[in-house]
This record gives sequence, structure tokens and C-alpha cells, in this order.
Amino acid sequence: MGKLPMICPISRMTERTMPGRRSFLATTAGLVLLPLRGFGRAVAYRPVILKGDYTRDSTHERQARARDEGCIGVVDFHFNSTGDPTVSGGEIYYQEGVTASRHFAEVMWRRFEAIGLPPHGNQPLRSTATNPRTIFINHYAMPAILLESLFLSNPEQAAWLHVGGHLGSLADAIAAGIRDEFPGGGTIGLSPGHAYKTSTPGDKGAKCREGDSEAEHTVALVGLVEQRLK
Ligand SMILES: [Zn+2]
Repeated sequence: MGKLPMICPISRMTERTMPGRRSFLATTAGLVLLPLRGFGRAVAYRPVILKGDYTRDSTHERQARARDEGCIGVVDFHFNSTGDPTVSGGEIYYQEGVTASRHFAEVMWRRFEAIGLPPHGNQPLRSTATNPRTIFINHYAMPAILLESLFLSNPEQAAWLHVGGHLGSLADAIAAGIRDEFPGGGTIGLSPGHAYKTSTPGDKGAKCREGDSEAEHTVALVGLVEQRLK
């Protein structure tokens, strides 16, 4: 009883502002149904694993496949390596001069940071113009980024990758970065670096300190990201 006086003024106010009770009910029903309609619509991704050659000078098999499949974005998977075992950290390359690619790289790096991956140097976001090995992603017709998540030549980082669950955490982060950048879903190209090359099928990429190879890690990681996007 004590709460009635509070309800009455609100309902009177509603009657005054609404043209009639029927439209008030219709509006109320609409307000309830509107979020439900959005809630029921699932966002769908179609991951496509890109295979074949991807050399730096022009459009090759992977770029052509990404275009033919209607990819809205491409992630190229690599791991870094160098002769100095103390060098470590991650970096993400974006297509020189492509704002959407740079944005994708920024969004993805935030996900890398969230799982504790350190940057290589003080600037983990790099244009392909800074590294000739990465310019092949410029030949993708859609925003593409190239991940160098860590150094396989660094004993601590290689060991980290081999701890159970860490490859899965990295896959979670990458899938989340893709969802962040493309919230409406769509076809996403996943390119495992050094694996499935037509011209050099034996290419394994860099050696990992733990005894396996870059190509083995890129294939495994792409598989996990593919599962998470389906
Ligand atoms: Zn390894």
C-alpha cells in the first residue's frame, strides 16, 4: 500500500504523454522485443585457411584465394627468430598506408597485451615498409595483418609456447582480436606462414629452440583459431 502513491503518478504521466493505452502497450511490447530480436541473431564467421605461395613481389595463390573467397580480413601467422637468443617480444605488421589494416593491428595487439605477451622493442605495431620480408601482405585486397607473436629463438619465449595451454591462450586472443575488428562476422583468411607452399613444400620457417619449427607452430595455431571462429 505504501508504494502505490509512487506508481500512480508515473502511470498518470504515461497516460498524458502517450496518445492512448493501446499505443502505450504497443510501445512497451516493442521495447521488450527489440533487444530480443538483436539477441537472437548470431554473428557468424567463416574461416578459410589460405595455402600456396605468397612471395613478396605480387599477387600469388594466397592473395588470389582470399580475394576469390570474399575474405573481409586476413591474418598471416608467423613466429620470429634471430641469431641473438636474448632478443624477444611480439610485433604485428600492417599494410603500409592502409588505415583499416593499422587499426586491425592495434586491436589485435591489445589482445596480445591482455595475455601478457611483451612487445619487441617499444613499438610492436610496424608498417610493412619497415621490413621487406613482410611486404607480401600489401598484395591482399582486404585489410591484412602479419603476426610475429614471439621469438622462437629466445629460450624463454619458446618454452612459454610449449607450456600446455599457452598456444590455446594465444588462439583465444587472436580469435578475440578478429571478433573485435569484425563484429558483424564474415569470411576471414587464416594464413599459416611457411606451411603449404607450392614452390617450396619443405619450408619449415625458423627453427624453434624446443626442437620443432615455425611452420609446425603456425599450422597448429591456425587450426585452433579456426575452431574458435566456427
Ligand atoms: Zn616449438
